Amino acid sequence: MDTPAAERLRLTEIFLSVQGESRSVGWPTVFVRLTGCPLRCQYCDTAYAFHGGEWWEIDTILAEVARHGARHVCVTGGEPLAQKRCLLLLEKLCDAGYEVSLETSGAIDIADVDPRVSRVVDLKTPGSKEMHRNLLENIPLLTARDQVKFVVCDRADYDWAKTMLAEHALADRCEVLFSPSQGQQSPAELAEWLLADKLPVRFQLQLHKVLWGDVAGK
Ligand code: SF4
Repeated sequence: MDTPAAERLRLTEIFLSVQGESRSVGWPTVFVRLTGCPLRCQYCDTAYAFHGGEWWEIDTILAEVARHGARHVCVTGGEPLAQKRCLLLLEKLCDAGYEVSLETSGAIDIADVDPRVSRVVDLKTPGSKEMHRNLLENIPLLTARDQVKFVVCDRADYDWAKTMLAEHALADRCEVLFSPSQGQQSPAELAEWLLADKLPVRFQLQLHKVLWGDVAGK
């Protein structure tokens, strides 16, 4: 019998790599990259996931994840939550015992994500050109399991992020990540600003780009 459409997802790639970002940085991780994103951040490095992809049954995705033999799984995109059935995938990955994280743009409601998932939620800065997409209703839903990420393009972005940090007491809710936009913001300069202002946030570089450069599937 055919799998009901309700249990399929549009998928760009599944691959094993080293987690390059977030609290789980450095762990061998299986990445499940779903296809499609309603945003167009000017610095996007995964535009190849906007279109194309193939339909996969969720159970086939689980089998492919298992084949790689890692404990950590990161569901990403694109914007994975743009496909409603992503919620079912996340639940099944948690049921299977993986440490599951979700990378999401912050533009879509995260309320129904399985509570066992660690949600990495972007807050889009002015420099992204998609700031108007931030769904601020997500902020009160964040817990200590989650992380908020600012990709900083310039000093104006940094100042904006600092204001958001204070206004929403973000560091009291969850871990907060500040990351320089590659090729736009000097990492060292950002690190110096964070230290000078004594911000309670975590600086991060994209480790996978240090290791392998800006290539798909890594
Ligand atoms: S939300 Fe992520 S995938 Fe979508 S355009 Fe922005 S950076 Fe790219």
